[in-house]
Amino acid sequence: MHPPVEKSTPYRTQDLRKSLNDSLEGDIRDFLINEAELHTYDDLTKVNPVTPSTVLKCLQARYSAKVFYTHAGCTLVALNPFQPIPHLYSLDVMREYHSAPQPQEFKPHIFIVAEEAYRNVQGQVEPMNQSLVVSGESGAGKTWTSRCLMKYYATVATSSQKCQDTVEKIERRVLDSNPVMEAFGNACTLRNSNSSRFGKYIQLQLNGSQLLVGASVQTYLLEKTRVAFQAPNERNFHIFYLMMKGATEKQRLEWMLPLEQDFAWLPHAEKTLEGKDCTSRICILKHESHFYEEFEEKTADLLQVPLDELQSCLTVRTLRAGKQSVLKPCTQSECGVRRDCLAKVIYAQLFDWLVTFINNSMCADNPTWCNFIGLLDVYGFECFLLNNLEQLCINYANEKLQQHFVAHYLKAQQEEYVTEGLQWSFIRYQDNQGCLDLIEGSPSSIFSLLNEECRLNRASDAKQFRVRLQKELSDNASISWDKLSKEPHFTVAHYADKVSYQIEGMMEKNKDPVPPEIISLLQKSQDSLLHSLFADGDRESEGSRGHSKVVTVVSKFKNSLESLMKILHSTTPHYTRCIKPNPDCRPLTFKKEEVIAQLEACGIVETINISAAGFPISDQAVLGSAVEDVLNVVFKRRAPNNNNMVHCGRTKVFLTHSLLEMLEEHRNRVRSQKVFCIQCCWRRY
Ligand code: ADP
Ligand code: MG
Repeated sequence: MHPPVEKSTPYRTQDLRKSLNDSLEGDIRDFLINEAELHTYDDLTKVNPVTPSTVLKCLQARYSAKVFYTHAGCTLVALNPFQPIPHLYSLDVMREYHSAPQPQEFKPHIFIVAEEAYRNVQGQVEPMNQSLVVSGESGAGKTWTSRCLMKYYATVATSSQKCQDTVEKIERRVLDSNPVMEAFGNACTLRNSNSSRFGKYIQLQLNGSQLLVGASVQTYLLEKTRVAFQAPNERNFHIFYLMMKGATEKQRLEWMLPLEQDFAWLPHAEKTLEGKDCTSRICILKHESHFYEEFEEKTADLLQVPLDELQSCLTVRTLRAGKQSVLKPCTQSECGVRRDCLAKVIYAQLFDWLVTFINNSMCADNPTWCNFIGLLDVYGFECFLLNNLEQLCINYANEKLQQHFVAHYLKAQQEEYVTEGLQWSFIRYQDNQGCLDLIEGSPSSIFSLLNEECRLNRASDAKQFRVRLQKELSDNASISWDKLSKEPHFTVAHYADKVSYQIEGMMEKNKDPVPPEIISLLQKSQDSLLHSLFADGDRESEGSRGHSKVVTVVSKFKNSLESLMKILHSTTPHYTRCIKPNPDCRPLTFKKEEVIAQLEACGIVETINISAAGFPISDQAVLGSAVEDVLNVVFKRRAPNNNNMVHCGRTKVFLTHSLLEMLEEHRNRVRSQKVFCIQCCWRRY
């Protein structure tokens, strides 16, 4: 056993990089653990001392030994192997974890988390819904993990009598919804060849006998701009390429897909989904004007709208002044914006329709199900060279989730110590309320000021907006400005890192205007699906907006996130942190700098420190002064120089990990279970 060190040094996340540098330079003086055994540490709380460098070394040693899961207190850390690991996820392994009396005693695995949630649903007193929150940066393995969890429940949460036709169908439908949603919502990016461009929360619905009887999915913030714009070396949504490749000759004619043709909006068609056979072929970019010469008629045909109306809605804008309206020809670039807008609005509505369709086919009737296990797979924290509204929304979502994690776990744990009247040198953690106030608070925040700008409906000026932000928000310590930068921007100190957002284009993105002519054109479509997508006119177009009711991108996103947080708060959460061990998605390659940045972003060292610090083990009814005496006797004999191993609160006694281990050893030796019974509420063994 490693030598016990009782009090882990508090580390702030900001110290991580410095500490890594120190250790990379060879300074590992405080390394008390046996390096040869590092890969055997199943729980990072057992690493002594818990420092960024020991945690990193432990994960690296495990990765080299092809061990990809490690507990970190209440969190599971999942390292992406970037190659199939035979047998790790087989049906047999699923059944083993499912049937084990104590799955926690098995090697760390995502199936332990899955099984724990499954057993918790029943609850000891009353049933409790569960949420599995899977986080991590793009390419870390979130979607893969969510799929794996769905497969697990589709396997274990089913009746052993396979004659139950409907149940079988539901499992299939739930699993089959994945490839359909991924075809429409995923794309090949620089960071992941199958990157989800939307967030999702799937509720797996269970009946009173714990059987899977249905599912529903809620999606968040589809990156619809990708339809009309792809960053260099990235692709459009998979579905377009799949259609091009998979269409029969008849479909090709029907959809007017030319055979050997490259489309400006479909770059890198030669890549496979895994991006392995990329050749240097470059797509032929069409000149703007070609769109009108080559494609207008086809578009009108496909959309089943009158050609002249399509032409005028793409090239002429209607200005309203009171009761009068004036027609004004658009410039070439305005025509391009309208064309892009037409494509984006159709795709976004179609995606929502698809989600509703999928939900209708797999959602159980309300009386049939009584509990659910929710799987949350949302985009991870993003910091690019250029960041705009999309990144602000994504990072805001991550701030919310981090706050949920901190509130649920770190704060709750520490507050319990305070309630118990313990004098304790607390682990410091980053409270991100200030940052959230900056982004979404009232009366003044980035979101409220952005919305106000949109309500005023005036020509947006990035420089003016920056001045406004500075005037109204500079009291908040989470915002700053780079004095040397010429571009109007603001920098937000997120819990994970500082991110600079460019202001240019942000107000326009927030308004997300759709010309009213486009909506009325689509409402006239003879295509029944397209017509139905726009028939009820619930999508606000720019012309229909009164000054007071503008539904902006950020207010919609904030609302949908608030409902998600409400659901999360009403469930018991389980956290899995996926880590991407190298930026190039190379199999079994571990890059220290890459990993430490991600550990920093999710505050893993703080989590471990607080998990390792102490555990409530019983209540006053059992633990009287006699027990305290016993504990002290045992502990004083074992570690006479250490006074931090036992803390007696008002109603609970808190023990450190190492003392708990000693006591258990002691109990085994003297067989004194009758004297006192230690019940560990938190820790996984
Ligand atoms: P994210 O959703 O976090 O962006 P993905 O779940 O799409 O990332 O994972 C990226 C890729 O990594 C997957 O396509 C898969 O090839 C690989 N991968 C992820 N997790 C695993 C795993 N546990 N075993 C094998 N390969 C994995
Ligand atoms: Mg994903």
